[in-house]
Parts: sequence; structure tokens; C-alpha cells
Amino acid sequence: MHGNTELLQFQEHHESSARTYPRNLPLAIQRAFGSHVLDMEGTSYIDFLSGAGVLALGHGHPRVLDAIREQLDLLTHGLDIPTPVKAEFTRRHLQMLPPGMRDRMRVHFCGPTGADAVEAAVKLCKTATGRSDVVAYQGGYHGCTAGAMALTSLVAPKRQVANLMPGVHFMPYSYCAQCPLRLSPDSCDVNCVALLESALSDSHAGFTTPAAVILELVQGEGGSIPAHPEFVRRVREATRAAGVPLVVDEIQTGAGRTGTWFAFEQYGIEPDVILLSKAIGGGLPVSLMLYDQALDVWEPGSHIGTFRGNQLAFAAGLAVLDVFEKEDVLANVRARSAQAFAALTPLETELPTVLQVRGKGLMIGVELAGTPAVDAGELAREVQRVCFEGGLLIERGGRDDRVLRLLPPLNISEETFARGLDILATAVRETTR
Ligand code: PMP
Repeated sequence: MHGNTELLQFQEHHESSARTYPRNLPLAIQRAFGSHVLDMEGTSYIDFLSGAGVLALGHGHPRVLDAIREQLDLLTHGLDIPTPVKAEFTRRHLQMLPPGMRDRMRVHFCGPTGADAVEAAVKLCKTATGRSDVVAYQGGYHGCTAGAMALTSLVAPKRQVANLMPGVHFMPYSYCAQCPLRLSPDSCDVNCVALLESALSDSHAGFTTPAAVILELVQGEGGSIPAHPEFVRRVREATRAAGVPLVVDEIQTGAGRTGTWFAFEQYGIEPDVILLSKAIGGGLPVSLMLYDQALDVWEPGSHIGTFRGNQLAFAAGLAVLDVFEKEDVLANVRARSAQAFAALTPLETELPTVLQVRGKGLMIGVELAGTPAVDAGELAREVQRVCFEGGLLIERGGRDDRVLRLLPPLNISEETFARGLDILATAVRETTR
């Protein structure tokens, strides 16, 4: 089996995963390097997916590969037994926190996936508070295990299955392009946060104080929507006043994606729990929960799991941190972000089909509006297809898949990024005019 078509057909026949990415991107990958992916016939694509935000330094970064090769000879799997590479990974991650937080935060390795970290956070907060309800946000995505899926408001992953964790309450998110309260952003007074404020402060609200509030600071799968700064400030204020731990899910926003190592740094808040996964393992699976030691109520054995000691992921993740420091990758994120907004924002006024260009750092979304003939989700799918034919991989997301999502490698060069943006802008113009 050596061709794109043969591999796609084989997968379609045997695997349910054929119903996700390959449904829209008929691609089989031969190999990849940097910001480029090569299909089985040698066609090259610019990669604005980065393995769903995992490959912060693109494919096969030499420093990351060297670190993995070196670690291969020492140890690959270590359960939760101490090793030098694990200790260094822990130390460096605590070091990435703002100085005021370093001493009071602790670390829990959660397993290979982001959803593992979400489950750990929910259980930790429930144990520490003795409460059972959890507040999450409309449009949020936290994963596909039972608890994480219950906290996910996007319907696609859970349409066919009844809610697997009771006691989840969804609050409106500050999604100003399509305000859930139908208010105008100029005069709304960030009213979307008022429901949480009253629920947490008014004993007559008929609402049981929750064990946690879980929030994405930029909703990723929900459509690359940065939370309003005032919204975040007030969520923090209300949760602190009510003694409710605030969990920020930085699984997608973390590791520099938004232009700072953690997105919460840009909001001037201090969360009680921070969840990381995706890019922190340099492309290998690992997830991490940083949490306030005041929540440290677990006994030995309270929360375990076999795959919490992926030494290769620790080594690869340390190489990522080194490259971030040495090459000032965060500066590149900010420069490329400005480049993207300069290239794409004019489409908002040029085309009635482009509702909003938004995002933070290199987590960027272009939300489309429908036309009388075609709905916005269909248009977005068509733009994605035209981009693919033009040699660019992009993702779609949002409430009805109407948002074109850009998650390029964080070290992408100005020239490659410009070429990708050009393919995208041309595809949007051609498809939606
Ligand atoms: N939280 C967020 C914000 C995510 O974006 C994702 C993955 N897209 C997850 C949790 C779940 O991570 P995983 O797919 O590794 O379980």
C-alpha cells in the first residue's frame, strides 16, 4: 500500500477514525519536516494544524529528535519512579510559572492525554471541597473521556450518548461575535459573567456551590475565541470569593501558543489549577496538572495510572523548553500573529461572508457567515478543501464548524507563513465571494 488513495481506503474500511480528519482532508502522510507535510505521492503541504497544536516546533525538530535519541538509551518508561529527566521536567515547568506562584504550586503527572488531566482536576477539586457539581462553559471542549466529555458543551462528541457525569452546569462564554445573551459588546457590561456571579453569591439561586469552575482562556475547538479580559477577571473574583477552585484548561493554549508560556499570564489572574498537555511533550504524549498545594488532599494511591512516566516525552519536552529560550520562539509567535492579523483582518470588511478574524498568538480563527444559498459550515468546509488543493492544511471548528482554525508551528518562518496565509486568503475570496 503506497498511494494516498489505497491508504485512505484501507483506513476507511477498518477504522472509525476515518470519520474525522481524513473525512475533510484526503491526505495520507509519507513524512513531515518543520512546517511541511509530504503525502504519499510527494505533494507538499504547509501545515497549519501542527498535529492539533502538539508540534510547537514543527515536525522533527533536530534538537527534539536528538533529545529523544539520547534518552532512548537510558530509559523510556518509568511509571512514577523518580528519574533525573522527570525531576528536571518538573523543575522547569514550575519555573515557567510567574514567581509569586512557584512555591505554592505542585505537580501531578496525569497520563498521556489532555483528557487525563481534566479527569484528574475534577477529581482533585471534588475531593478537596467535598462538593460534586462542576461549572463549565458553553462552546468549551475538554476531551472525550466520561467526565471531560460531560464538561464539553460542543455536541458532536456526545450526541449519541447520555451525559456520563451528573452535576455539570454550563455558563455563557464571552463569545462577543455571537453574544449568547444577544447583547452588543459596546454596552453589555460583560453581562455573560453575571449568571456565574449570582449563582456563586446568592444562596437563593437554587444552585449548589460547585467543586470547580473549568475554563478555556481561548476556546480552541469552540472556534478560537479569546475570553474577554473583564470576563476572566470577574470569573476569578467570583470563584475566589465563593471558595471555588478555578481550573484553567491550557491544554491547547499552553506552551507558548498564545504568545506567553501560559495564556493566563495575559489575563493578570492566578488560577488554582492549570492543565497542560499537547505541546509540552515535544510531540510525545504526556499531560500535567499544576495545582495549588491547598488542594493537596489526595492520599498515596488516590489517583494513579500506568503511563505517567514517559521519559521520552520528558526529554523531548525539555528540548522544546531549551529551544524556546535559545531561539526566543515566543517573539516569533507574536510577530507571526501580527502578520496573520495584517493579512486576514481586511477580509472582514472586504467580504460579507467573513464575520470575524480573531485569536491570540498563533491560535487564530476566521469565522464565516453563511449566504442565502450556503450555510457557514458548508462554506468553511469548501474553503478547507480549496486550501488543501492549494497545498495548505487547516482545521475547522466552532459551534457549527464555521470557523477556519489556524494552529501553525510556533517557529514557522515568515516566508512559509506568508505563503500559507496567501493560500488561505485566496481560498476565502474565491469560495465565499
Ligand atoms: N482540553 C482542550 C482545551 C483541548 O483542546 C483538548 C484537545 N483538543 C483536550 C482538552 C483533550 O485533549 P486529548 O485529546 O489529548 O484528550
